[in-house]
Amino acid sequence: MLKAPPKPPLKLRRRAADILAGLEAEYPDARTELAYRDPFELLIATVLSAQATDVSVNAATPALFAAYPDALALSRATPEAVEALIRTIGLYRSKARNLVALAGLLQERHGGEVPNDFDAVVALPGAGRKTANVVLSNAYGFPAIAVDTHVGRLARRLGLSEQTNPDKVETDLQLLFPRERWVFLHHALILHGRRVCNARKPLCSACMLQDICPRVGVLSSA
Ligand code: SF4
Repeated sequence: MLKAPPKPPLKLRRRAADILAGLEAEYPDARTELAYRDPFELLIATVLSAQATDVSVNAATPALFAAYPDALALSRATPEAVEALIRTIGLYRSKARNLVALAGLLQERHGGEVPNDFDAVVALPGAGRKTANVVLSNAYGFPAIAVDTHVGRLARRLGLSEQTNPDKVETDLQLLFPRERWVFLHHALILHGRRVCNARKPLCSACMLQDICPRVGVLSSA
């Protein structure tokens, strides 16, 4: 029988509960800032968002989705034609190749639909654990905490995880927060990371978590 992971210390669980309450008060409607109308568009937008801003992705996807509205259409595109539509997004060449291959696999293995299955999404070109978590949680309500650069940084600063590996941070957060709040937590931490707890100089004096945050690793703040 698998051993259950050890329960985090009470002090840490209390801090996590206080952090969740603070985030809920500040960002009650936290959700993804990527624009999409269905699971296919969300998957494509999420793959495009790797090492790129949501704003740059949202600026490019309307034309992309107009040209290729579903997996079948995108699977028949050439990478060069896709490149021309996503040129303003970082890593556009490799992303264009991945999108065409990904659409081909969706057609071949899943009837053109985005599968409601973690391992199947992770196996798609250009997707990984983070993409699968984002897509499954937003499109299908799957409980998940996708750990991107913001979530990882905030988890460490807030003393919720000492890990740098995103998969390990995800496990630490899963042990500290109720399953039904994982998706909210992911979006709220991203918003807080963008607006207040930014990478270079966090705005600690304006932060609603300043009284409970240990500010691990913060050398300079505003
Ligand atoms: S107090 Fe500072 S380090 Fe802690 S979450 Fe707020 S902005 Fe980030």
